[in-house]
Amino acid sequence: MEIVNILVAPIGAVDLDALGAISRALRETYHCETVAGESLTVPHEAYSARREQYHSTKLLAMLEARKPDTCDLLLGVIDEDLYVPELNFVFGEADPVAGVAVIGLPRLRQEYYGLDPDRELFLLRAAKEAIHETGHTCGLGHCSDHRCIMHFSNSLRDTDVKGPRFCARCRTKLAAGPS
Ligand SMILES: [Zn+2]
Ligand SMILES: [Zn+2]
Repeated sequence: MEIVNILVAPIGAVDLDALGAISRALRETYHCETVAGESLTVPHEAYSARREQYHSTKLLAMLEARKPDTCDLLLGVIDEDLYVPELNFVFGEADPVAGVAVIGLPRLRQEYYGLDPDRELFLLRAAKEAIHETGHTCGLGHCSDHRCIMHFSNSLRDTDVKGPRFCARCRTKLAAGPS
């Protein structure tokens, strides 16, 4: 599909620099417009007190309900740790049918792992995760090329190894649209 515009909406309080870096990366990668959305309320029903994480699929449902007809895709950005029941955590999740995606920021910071803060690295990681989840909303699956942005990030190391760009195969698929 051809994306004309992506609404980038913070869910709760989100670092403005991260939102800026994400929007810029999406414009450059997808040659589209981005619209800065108003902050959405963090939905408490998506929170698991036992896991102390937010269920990303429930966040996608909330985003779908809030998605305006005027945007092609809605990317929600939350500064909370995300999970799906089968995994310990996820960096993000996407629903290609609804055209919505969400990414969580905490695990993209060096501080999360007890390391010294690295602002540039954090912003780059946020941009990469946004490009990756948006790729899913465009119908791309995971790619076996570990340097391709569509490679699955099992850990932050995978995110750091892959570049912010598509491999040739994914680029071709993206241009061709969903099969
Ligand atoms: Zn993925
Ligand atoms: Zn690829």
